[in-house]
Amino acid sequence: MEDDYYKILGIEKNATESEVKKAYYKKAKLFHPDRHRNSNNTTEVEEKFKQVSEAYEVLSNVDKRQLYDQYGKAGLDQSHQAGFNPFDHLSSMFNMQRQSRPQKTEDIHLSLNVTLKELYDGCTKSVTYKRLVKCIKCQARGTTKDMDTTCKTCQGRGQIMQKQQQGFMIVQNIIACPHCQGTGDTIKPKDCCQACKGKKYKPQEETWQVDVEPGMMDHHAITRYGGADEHVKLSPGDVIVILNCLKHDLYQRIGNDLVFQLTITLYQAVSGKGIELIHLNGDCLNLQYPNVIQSHTIKKLSGYGMTILNQPDCFGDLYIQFELVIDLTPCQRQKVIELLTLAQPLELITPDTARKPANNTLMLEHVDTLPSTPSQGSYHSDDDGFTTQTQCAQQ
Ligand SMILES: [Zn+2]
Ligand SMILES: [Zn+2]
Repeated sequence: MEDDYYKILGIEKNATESEVKKAYYKKAKLFHPDRHRNSNNTTEVEEKFKQVSEAYEVLSNVDKRQLYDQYGKAGLDQSHQAGFNPFDHLSSMFNMQRQSRPQKTEDIHLSLNVTLKELYDGCTKSVTYKRLVKCIKCQARGTTKDMDTTCKTCQGRGQIMQKQQQGFMIVQNIIACPHCQGTGDTIKPKDCCQACKGKKYKPQEETWQVDVEPGMMDHHAITRYGGADEHVKLSPGDVIVILNCLKHDLYQRIGNDLVFQLTITLYQAVSGKGIELIHLNGDCLNLQYPNVIQSHTIKKLSGYGMTILNQPDCFGDLYIQFELVIDLTPCQRQKVIELLTLAQPLELITPDTARKPANNTLMLEHVDTLPSTPSQGSYHSDDDGFTTQTQCAQQ
C-alpha cells in the first residue's frame, strides 16, 4: 500500500491548494464506494478511497500539511486521526449531507467581490483575515514555567456542574468554571508567559490566495479547511469565502448562459450586417442574420455563454436581446420616406383598404414603461362565479 500522501493523490510536493483539491476530486470520484457497489473488489476500492480522503484531509489543511512535510505521519495529531471520517470533506464537495465532524473551532466566513469576467476566466484573489494561533513561546500553556496550571475547581475541564433548587426539584446545570473562566487552568500574573501575557493565543493576520475557478457561480463557497482559530483541545475550523459577483454593465448571467442587450440601427436591423459586440473573453464578435431583425427579438449564439465549472472547454449559450433605435438625420429621414413611398404607395400601407378612411389624426405620446399589473380592485366576482374584468370598456 502506498504511504506517501502526495503520491496517493498523484501530485508534487509543491502542489497548490487548488491542485490538491482537483487531484482529490478526481481520485475520490474514481474510488467512491457508491460507484463500485456491484464490483468484486469492494474492499480494495474502499481502502483506496479511505487513503485518498485521508491524504486530502491532511494536505488540504495548512497546519497539518506543514506538520506532515516536517515529521511525516508521526507528526500528525493521533487524537485527530481517531475522529477522522473519510466522507467528511467529500460530502461538502459533492453537496451531500454532512456527517458529524470532530469538534472544531468556529468557522470564519468571508465575502469576496468578483467581476463577471473574473468568473468567466477564473482568477486568483488575495484575501486577508485574522485568526488566533497558539503562542509559540509557551506552546499555548500560558506560562513558560514548568508548573502544574490545572484549575483545582474544575480539574482542568473548564466546566462545573451547578445544582439549583427549583421548587421541589434540584436542577443540574453545566456552567463555565468561574474560577478559571472556563479555560481549565489558573496562572498567577507573575507566572504568565511574556509573549502572550498568559492568553495562550495571539491574533495573526493570514493571507489566502483564493483560487476562483472559471465558471463558478455567484455565492459559490470556497473552503480553506483548518484555516480558522487554533485551539489546544479543538481542531481548527474552516475559513469559508463566499463569492459575490458584481453587476456587469452589459452582460447578465442566467446559469451558464449570458444575456446581452444590444441596440441596433435601422441599417443593421434591415441588412442584418455590421452588428458587433465585445464578448466577455475580449473578442470582438461580428454577427450576421439573414433576415430583418425586429426590435425586442432574441437571437442565440450557441457556445458563447459562460465557462462551465470543471469543464474549462465547455460554454453555455449567449442570448442577444435586440433593441432597434432609429436615429436619422432629417435628410436621411426624407430619403427613407421617399424610398418607402415609391416601393409601397401610401394607401396600401393601411392594412384594410375596405375600411373607411380615417378622418382625424391622433398624436402618439411617449411613455417609458408599460402600465403595471392591474390591482385586485379592478376585478370583481359575479354571482354566477365567473370573474370578469370591469375595465373592459365598450368601444
Ligand atoms: Zn505564551
Ligand atoms: Zn476551572
